[in-house]
Amino acid sequence: MEQNNGLLIVLSGPSGAGKGTICRELLKEMPQVKYSVSATTREPRPGEVDGLHYYFRKKEEFQDMIEKEELLEWAEFCGNYYGTPRFAVEQAIQAGNDVLLEIEIQGALQVKKVYPQGVFVFIVPPSLDELSQRIHNRGTETKEAIEKRLQTAVKEMEYIKEYDYVVVNDEIPIAVEKLKSILTAEKCRVSRKTFVFQGV
Ligand code: 5GP
Repeated sequence: MEQNNGLLIVLSGPSGAGKGTICRELLKEMPQVKYSVSATTREPRPGEVDGLHYYFRKKEEFQDMIEKEELLEWAEFCGNYYGTPRFAVEQAIQAGNDVLLEIEIQGALQVKKVYPQGVFVFIVPPSLDELSQRIHNRGTETKEAIEKRLQTAVKEMEYIKEYDYVVVNDEIPIAVEKLKSILTAEKCRVSRKTFVFQGV
């Protein structure tokens, strides 16, 4: 018999790289993977629902979560705070469920320190032009915010080497397939397995 903890999958990459879409598709195809809903001080975008896409919190509430050590990691990104509630993640992993975090790099590096056995995947757009186009097309950010996100994206690319895998998001279905393969392989790692043989 096999007993395993769930996988902690950490997905990062520049804003507009397509992480959100890839996550949604992966969760559809692998329903056993649980999505970790982050807390943020950012304003909701049209259609975003509290508790589903994010826990939308005031700055003081977020500060309170930090002080009470309720966050596994947190970071400031483009003027807003983002963080991963610790409890749900730890509970799911211990119960043997896989958990997906879609977080930016500073946060991912904090997770790597406390949980190096996580699987760290960096999603990149095919080019910077394509990235710019995607953020414009999304139409949810002001011109200044887009500029800031693009500048951040260039800096972020330097951190690829901190990750275990890189997936170029040329086409969503192919990128999702690659991610699924990564997870399947990671689950087969001998180092993750504890075999308990009954009667031995
Ligand atoms: P957005 O405002 O576009 O939803 O997210 C901006 C950035 O924050 C994205 O790179 C996203 O991955 C990241 N992010 C979302 N949730 C978290 C979180 O809990 N922690 C950290 N560190 N980053 C997050």
